[in-house]
Amino acid sequence: MSNLTNNFIAGSWIEGSSYVANINPSDTNDTIGQYAQASISQLEDALHASKAAQQKWTETGLEQRQAILMNIGEEMMARSAELGELLSREEGKPLAEGKGEVYRAGQFFTYYAAEVLRQSGDTADSVRAGVEVDVRREAMGTVAIISPWNFPTATASWKIAPALAFGNAVIWKPANLTPASAVALTEIISRQDMPEGLFNLVMGSGSSIGQTLAESSQVDAISFTGSYDVGRQIAAAAAKNLTKFQLELGSKNPLVIMDDADMDVAVAAATAGAYGSTGQKCTASSRLVVHEKIHDEFVDRMSKSTSSLKVGHALEEGTQIGPAVSEQQLNSNLGYMDLARKEGCEVVCGGDALELATPGFYMQPALLTGGDNSMKLNREELFAPMACVIKVADYDEALKVANDTDFGLVSGIITRSLSRASHFRRNAEAGCVMVNLPTAGTDYHVPFGGRKNSSFGPREQGQYAKELYTQVKTSYILAGNP
Ligand code: NAP
Ligand code: MG
Repeated sequence: MSNLTNNFIAGSWIEGSSYVANINPSDTNDTIGQYAQASISQLEDALHASKAAQQKWTETGLEQRQAILMNIGEEMMARSAELGELLSREEGKPLAEGKGEVYRAGQFFTYYAAEVLRQSGDTADSVRAGVEVDVRREAMGTVAIISPWNFPTATASWKIAPALAFGNAVIWKPANLTPASAVALTEIISRQDMPEGLFNLVMGSGSSIGQTLAESSQVDAISFTGSYDVGRQIAAAAAKNLTKFQLELGSKNPLVIMDDADMDVAVAAATAGAYGSTGQKCTASSRLVVHEKIHDEFVDRMSKSTSSLKVGHALEEGTQIGPAVSEQQLNSNLGYMDLARKEGCEVVCGGDALELATPGFYMQPALLTGGDNSMKLNREELFAPMACVIKVADYDEALKVANDTDFGLVSGIITRSLSRASHFRRNAEAGCVMVNLPTAGTDYHVPFGGRKNSSFGPREQGQYAKELYTQVKTSYILAGNP
């Protein structure tokens, strides 16, 4: 077999016990390579090596740690065209999005490089005379990172960069659908002057290597992004060992469009939020909650915007919407289209599978109307290029519908009224709120995360990340006599 790509364990590239093929979803005749599947004993080797390496890492000077993170980030940014193309080839997002993702991933490393030097703690006098108190943060130890395929490089980077910056060792289990991006990032990290075993890549299936990693008593913290169902399994595994953990899961984000909305802003935000990345975004707005006064005008303009989107090969110029990531995902999307019709929605446009020049998992983005918030279609995360319009009579009903969901990652509103926008910002039951912006699209220096079934544990990104990757130590020191 040619084109074999291996795992990175304890400082060496290690052959797998088996290999899986990585297929291009824009052209299933294109096989990107064969990717190693780590065995359980190889995972144990990684866990073992991480312990000594992490100890050495905490003794490494802060400027060296900072320089390493800076090198990784700068190389990713410099190579974002090349690595973005690889990402788009294996995941299916349009080339501009693939390049943008790699560049952003690099920014996570340069941002956390700076955070390495932001050392601060508290000192205090004890309530006991002659005793001093020192409060500081220490690394957790070995961190398990389990990441999804939809933002294969960015999601992993916003976990790996703070984990390393705050002094931890990392065991990374990426999604098996996007191993090439994982290997590319690992290759950059592998060339840095860091202790062998500090960073380990263990590709393999979630149900075997992922589950074993989450269950390991050798792991000190787990950061997981993925589906709600797997998140609950991770939580159960972590609870057995009382391992600290964090979950970023699915959502069912609403975009409210009020009667005073700027219609250009509304259509642009809804189009980007619903169909960007083929709808395969935890921040996608699959519920468009629209005021009845402007409902017909919005649907008319949205229908034009939706049907004008160019679906195509991710690497082809002009493509705005790539394929679904896999056949399974495409079938799930088409299944949700059947459900929409069964539940009584009208299909304004799109929703059919497409046959293009290359065999891939293509689908025309769909706009649905006649939606009711109690429909299963409007309760479950779709992860599809589909949006359903839910008509409401006024702002109060819009807010109620927006909040009537088991999830709570992002909630958005399009309005020209400052008082409505402020009320919405305060009363939306979500971790992130967007005013006159798409639900998707967040920064890297501020916290990201959700409420209800969308998240559990500390926020990710910005300075909030240290809540997961560090632990607090309070020391009492008896002052000596001179
Ligand atoms: P997934 O099926 O939950 O997989 C996520 C990761 O977990 C993959 O690496 C997967 O491995 C692994 N995994 C699967 N079963 C496991 C188990 N029993 N134990 C440990 N690990 C296991 O999710 P996905 O389909 O890749 O991603 C889509 C989901 O991610 C959506 O629900 C989306 O909303 C969510 N998401 C959330 C955010 C956020 O920040 N809130 C961001 C992006 C995506 P395999 O490679 O074998 O599948
Ligand atoms: Mg692939």
